[in-house]
Amino acid sequence: MTKVAFIGLGNMGHGMAGRYLEASFDVAVWNRSKAKAEDLIGRGARWAASPADAADGADAVVTMVADDGASRSVWLGEGGAASKMKPGTLAIECSTVSYQHALDMANELRGRGFVYIDCPVTGLPQAAAEGKLTLLVGADAADLEKAQPFLKPISTTVRHFGKVGGGTVFKLINNLIGAVQIASLAEGVAIAEQAGLDMKLVGEALATGAVASPQVIRHSRRMIARDFAGASFTSALRHKDAAYAVALAESLLPGVPVSRAALAAYEQAMAHAPDDDEGSMIKMVSRPK
Ligand code: NAP
Repeated sequence: MTKVAFIGLGNMGHGMAGRYLEASFDVAVWNRSKAKAEDLIGRGARWAASPADAADGADAVVTMVADDGASRSVWLGEGGAASKMKPGTLAIECSTVSYQHALDMANELRGRGFVYIDCPVTGLPQAAAEGKLTLLVGADAADLEKAQPFLKPISTTVRHFGKVGGGTVFKLINNLIGAVQIASLAEGVAIAEQAGLDMKLVGEALATGAVASPQVIRHSRRMIARDFAGASFTSALRHKDAAYAVALAESLLPGVPVSRAALAAYEQAMAHAPDDDEGSMIKMVSRPK
């Protein structure tokens, strides 16, 4: 049986790890807090005492944790996966990390004889649990080929953006554009409310008009109703991605005033309620009803 170690069982990672069980892989799991692993253990996963223990004997190690700090710690910290991986093991980073971090990890892990690919994802937790993610990959072509059996159970689409770091560059741009759209949508909805427009009509018009991106369709409904049930992507995660994207822009295209404004909006949203849904910034920008 092919052995996979899965590290990070949050909203996304939990569903992804379950996909490997459904595909009959031999799965070892680790999460900082064990409670999130219980049902996976019940479904046949081996609980590992540390990322290193999970990685012991694995053919591939997949990580899905919050940010650069969490990623560094699960790969290279005390009890980190790298300390037990065998030479040639695939290191698949699905977390959204900064571009510099992806390059640093590639350097560190390749230096120890492993194969590193950056593989951030798009799709909500439901898509993760159903194996319907889109993967944004940065890897040498031969490394991607080697990784394919580990990508199939979790995805329907793999987009290869060239060498290591490429997947992360695109992911950060994608989520930066998302930050701009959501921050601007919150202000638009708040202005419409202040103007006394019929908000049912505003919702319909936004969801069917020229600006109706999937983000606008999803968040306009939620913002107008102030209903953020099923929150899946927090203000803290959106802020992190926008900050990593603006840091990437520094060396390529400094300035980016619109992106910086969205980042500032998410700085405020994060200070206000980091674990709330990313669209709940409407509460911050609108006048009390
Ligand atoms: P989440 O539910 O907040 O889970 C975060 C995970 O990271 C948890 O397993 C958490 O462990 C772990 N973690 C955080 N800090 C850690 C540390 N210092 N050391 C070890 N583990 C740590 O987040 P998520 O929504 O699953 O997101 C995971 C990644 O996917 C993020 O990079 C996010 O940007 C990206 N992403 C999310 C979505 C989405 O819709 N949610 C979509 C695409 C991509 P605990 O359980 O112990 O806290």
